[in-house]
This record gives sequence, C-alpha cells and structure tokens, in this order.
Amino acid sequence: MLDVSGQNEPLIDRLTEKAAEVIRSGRYILGPEVTAFEQEVAEYIGVEHAIGVSSGTDALMVALMALGIGKGDEVITTPFTFFATGGCIARVGATPVFVDIRPDTFNIDVEQTAAAVTERTRAILPVHLYGQACDMEGLVEMARKHDLPIIEDAAQAIGTQSPLGPVGSLGAYGCFSFFPSKNLGGFGDAGLVTTQDSGLAEKARVMRAHGSKPKYYHAVVGGNFRIDALQAALLRVKLPELRGWTVGRQQNAARYDAAFSDSGLDESLLRTPRKRFDGHIYNQYVIRSSRRDELLAHLQEQKIATTIYYPVPLHRQECFAPLGYNEGSLPVSEHASREVLALPIFAGLGEARQSRIIDTVIAFLER
Ligand SMILES: *Cc1c(COP(=O)(O)O)cnc(C)c1O
Repeated sequence: MLDVSGQNEPLIDRLTEKAAEVIRSGRYILGPEVTAFEQEVAEYIGVEHAIGVSSGTDALMVALMALGIGKGDEVITTPFTFFATGGCIARVGATPVFVDIRPDTFNIDVEQTAAAVTERTRAILPVHLYGQACDMEGLVEMARKHDLPIIEDAAQAIGTQSPLGPVGSLGAYGCFSFFPSKNLGGFGDAGLVTTQDSGLAEKARVMRAHGSKPKYYHAVVGGNFRIDALQAALLRVKLPELRGWTVGRQQNAARYDAAFSDSGLDESLLRTPRKRFDGHIYNQYVIRSSRRDELLAHLQEQKIATTIYYPVPLHRQECFAPLGYNEGSLPVSEHASREVLALPIFAGLGEARQSRIIDTVIAFLER
C-alpha cells in the first residue's frame, strides 16, 4: 500500500546523520529536538500549540485525560474508524456512544450526533477519516450549542483543510499520528496533540509527563506519553517533504477520479470518494463496490496491494458487545464496511503502476 523505505531512501544520509547527532547528544527524552519539531509541525498544521506524544493513540488518551473525562461520562464518536478512537474512550472509563456516518464522506453525521447528546455527554470525538475533514461547520455549531468540547481525531489528516480552517485547530484538541503508514510517518510510534488554547496546551504537557508539575509533584494522574527525541529529530528531516508528498497524493487521487468516472461503470459497482472541500490529503483513497470481496481477491491475485479500512465497525467489535449495539444498529457504517476498498495512493506510486491498477480494476468490474 505504501513504499515506506522507498520514500525514506532519498533522505537516508540526512536521516542517519541526524540519528547519530541525537545519539551523540545524550539527550533522548524531550529536549531541543522535540521543542524544535513541535514548533515546526505546529506551523505546518496551522495551530498555536503542538505537544509531541508517544503515538496517535496516546494523543487521544492525553486529550481525554486532560479534559477530565472518565467514569460515568459519555463521548460521542463514529464507529467507522481505527480502533483507537473508541478504545481510548473506554480506556479512560467513559462510554463510547457510536453514531452513524454519512454514506458519501464516511464521516460522522452531524444530526445524529446532536440527537445522541444526553446529560452525561462530555465530548464529541469526530474523525477526519482517510484525510478528509468531517463537517466541522455543523459539529462546531452543534457542540457550541451544547457547550461540549470537540476532540478531533486527525490521525489521518495532517495538513487537511476544512472550510473553517486547518483540522486540529477547530476543537479543544487535535490528535495526530506519525505511525509509518500515515502521511508523515516516523520510524516507530509517535503522535501529536494540538490546541489553540494555552491553558489546554499546558494541561496536555502535564498529562504527557505523569501529571507532574513541578517535577515530582502530582496534582493529577498522567502517564508517560512522551515522544522520543530520536523520533522528533527524524520527523524534522521528513517534514519539509510533506507538502510535496501530499500534492503527489492529490494528483494520484485526481487521476483515479478521472479514470474511474470515464469508465462509465455503474455507481454501485464503482464509486469514487466524494470530496466535500479541496483540502483532502488522501491518507487513503477508498472506493466502494458492491463486488468488493471479488475485486479484492482479484487484485490480490494480480499482486496489487489493497486494504479494507475497516472490515468491522467498532459497535460490532466483540469488546463492545456489552454496549448492546446489534447488526443493523448503525446500517450506513455496516454497509460501508462491506463495500470499501483502499487503493495505493502514495506519492511515489508512479503513473505506470497506477495505470495498471486502474486498468485491472475497470477490466474486472466490466466483466
Ligand atoms: C492511526 C490512527 C490512530 C492511532 O494512531 P497510532 O499512532 O497508531 O497510535 C487513531 N485514530 C485513527 C483514525 C488512526 O488512523
């Protein structure tokens, strides 16, 4: 799906030099590389404050913990996402309340979110799935009406724009991931919390280091959620390339869009992702097809990498069975999980490889 080592190869000298520099410095926990990375990535995203953390999952943990969310609280989120989104809500002791998605964008439905608010609701946790901003206009207005904070799961959306501004700047907190398959991938696990509010930034920084302030004094219980200095230093080498890689992904997406719409195939057989706004960064390019499983098998046979994000929506995961959702509870998500298929989209894909993927998909579905 993504040629990670191919992407890193042109940077290998600078990466190894940088790694050696950090090793020689003896500063492995926080320190100047982390501070510099936080400033640079905040500028890239377009936010006031960025706090480097140990993973995207831990970014969600920090955000939930910093807002004091726990036992007895409800957090409204989407079931059509990576597990961490719902998993973190449960890990802080709160109850994830899953509401359905829009069939066109795969992102959380604003009206259903509003309808799910109860007196126990403490936050809204939308996901900018595949790199496309969800309807933040609607969510921000709705959250304001109910006086609820928004935590943006922007793990797949670094640099994504929405009509209101960059994602990660629109809620109380934004949560990003540098997992290797994300648009800015590290060399292991790393993540980021963003915010526009200096008070919330301070809370997240305290949470990142066991809740200590000053050192060895704990007014709150936090955790070890620190980003490695080595990860931050290596991500600094990659960050200047990110804009170019994103443009490459957008160009590949446009090529898929054009080829697939020219194919004349029925919408039920092949539906391209719907773009709400021009700020999509295409962490994934996800098509829908009523013949998804056959198409997947065929592409695998042809040695074309594809993945299903996500085969089982969270409300149907065994661990969340006690929440009482049934088959049919959230039909749009369930339907999507049977039809979605992600195609390779990374910047280094190349026209020849992409043409072969396009031809293979169309030829199969025309049969
Ligand atoms: C990747 C991802 C996460 C978790 O990030 P990690 O860095 O892997 O912990 C959370 N939410 C979404 C939507 C993701 O795609």
